[in-house]
Amino acid sequence: MLDENEQVSFRSAYQVNQGFKLILRTVLNKMSSTSRRASATQESLHRIFTIPEAPDSTLGVIEKEMSENLLGFLGQHIVAVEKPLNEIEKDFASSALPEEPEFVSDHMHHLLNKLVAQSVHTSSPSFIGHMTSALPYFILPLSKLMVGLNQNLVKIETSKAFTPLERQVLGMMHRLVYGDDDHFYQQWMHSANHSLGAFCSGGTVANLTALWVARNNLLKADGDFKGVAREGLYKALKHYDYEGLAILVSERGHYSLKKSADVLGIGQESVIAIPTDEHNKIDIAKLEQKCQELTRNKIRILSLVGVAGTTETGNIDPLMQMAEIAERYDTHFHVDAAWGGATLLSNKHRGLMAGIELADSVTIDAHKQMYVPMGAGLVVFKNPASVSAIEHHAEYILRKGSKDLGSHTLEGSRPGMAMLVYASLHIISRQGYEMLINQSLDKAQYFADQISAHPEFELVTKPELCLLTYRYVPKEVQAMLEIASDEQVEVINSLLDKLTKFIQKRQRENGKSFVSRTRIEVSRYQGKKVLVFRVVLANPLTTKEILNDILAEQCELASESKQYLPELLAQVAKVSV
Ligand SMILES: *Cc1c(COP(=O)(O)O)cnc(C)c1O
Repeated sequence: MLDENEQVSFRSAYQVNQGFKLILRTVLNKMSSTSRRASATQESLHRIFTIPEAPDSTLGVIEKEMSENLLGFLGQHIVAVEKPLNEIEKDFASSALPEEPEFVSDHMHHLLNKLVAQSVHTSSPSFIGHMTSALPYFILPLSKLMVGLNQNLVKIETSKAFTPLERQVLGMMHRLVYGDDDHFYQQWMHSANHSLGAFCSGGTVANLTALWVARNNLLKADGDFKGVAREGLYKALKHYDYEGLAILVSERGHYSLKKSADVLGIGQESVIAIPTDEHNKIDIAKLEQKCQELTRNKIRILSLVGVAGTTETGNIDPLMQMAEIAERYDTHFHVDAAWGGATLLSNKHRGLMAGIELADSVTIDAHKQMYVPMGAGLVVFKNPASVSAIEHHAEYILRKGSKDLGSHTLEGSRPGMAMLVYASLHIISRQGYEMLINQSLDKAQYFADQISAHPEFELVTKPELCLLTYRYVPKEVQAMLEIASDEQVEVINSLLDKLTKFIQKRQRENGKSFVSRTRIEVSRYQGKKVLVFRVVLANPLTTKEILNDILAEQCELASESKQYLPELLAQVAKVSV
């Protein structure tokens, strides 16, 4: 509830001192010393809908601080040193519904202490472990506008201009992938019975939507059979005389494909992982072999999925060759470019994705490399008619022939996130995105060079985009790995795994910087899995100096390992003997 008294006392404190934290503390101390209680009255409820937070109220000051210096605000309020999760859980342990209201300012205090303080500083330039990074400033007020408008994209009656805007964004992204001509977009972009794609919450739903379309188009109505959408998978397989369906993707495929197979009733085991070559790209010969084998066994291939920027290593499958195989087996070719798709905005690097224009559908997450906040995924379809396979209608909304976007999206009520993609495309522009993407790739190359040149590190996967993996390996151990037997290599690698985990965990806990870790098969170790550091260099504010500091910190942390480092060196001694 809004609190008048607090506003008054706050104003006087604000004039005396400009230091944000100090003010906040003063106010909060004052508040706790007087016993004020909020109460749920008609009047107080009316106030929260009609009276804005005063600029000098707690929330007002926070808003001002955020809009003037977000990085500073986050840096100040997020506690760097990590608290164990089980400690944090204690702050969120009660399941009792709040029976009585709280003042907004009191609640803000609570949020700052319990939630913000223990959040992850994803926009920090030294947080380079994940695909979630910094956002441009204009996103903050625009997001506020979007929330304020509270449009619902499910139907035109609650979104009006947002619907054509979203269709336009899908058109732009479609053009980015397929590059059709003006006439094509004029014809289809706003056509009620067609759709160039589907906007959704993220890559997972985008992949699911693509496979849903593929499934319904493959098992479509035929004679007496009314189609899988109406009669279900069991009858569909019987009608078409298939023993099962399969989705083929490299072993680096994203787990959302398994979720999709599960939801679509195909089963997770129908997602078949094809081995990759030493560059983490799908092995085309093995893919072809598997296609033959499945077809022979009357398993219908539902879709080949190419990955354009794998989540773990950032590599891109040979899309051209995959498209050719998909055509031969008459199957839906989907490209999961959730993370890497934004590379198409760079004229310099878009060639890396050659063949993507042959895909029947492509997933792209705007909330990854397009610097849009979480909740902005999309899938585009080459054929504007293919989404009719998942069309749903209802009487009171989504009437036939309406332009309601909800008739061909999995999600129902949906926010106007497309506006943020639209604004970013205009404000940053294709050229601006190209600069950001080129910079990220250059930075990844720089970091890879530093790692390769460093005597104590091993580059495990080279960056094709701005993602790479590496690990800390003392130089004596590196020398030994060259000559060791397979058995010795295995012992060493298991010790190195422990050391990698130790360093990564410590670094995260210290809170200065963050790299993630993952386990990947490495061909030079006979395809055995090793634990590696994984970095994604998307934050434009990450400097070379920060990267060098991260390596230096990792060396220091390694030397603090009282257990694994000595054990490793003992192994080296054994080999040299
Ligand atoms: C991130 C990612 C996804 C999933 O996207 P969400 O937005 O997290 O749902 C799917 N595929 C790939 C390759 C990804 O990198």
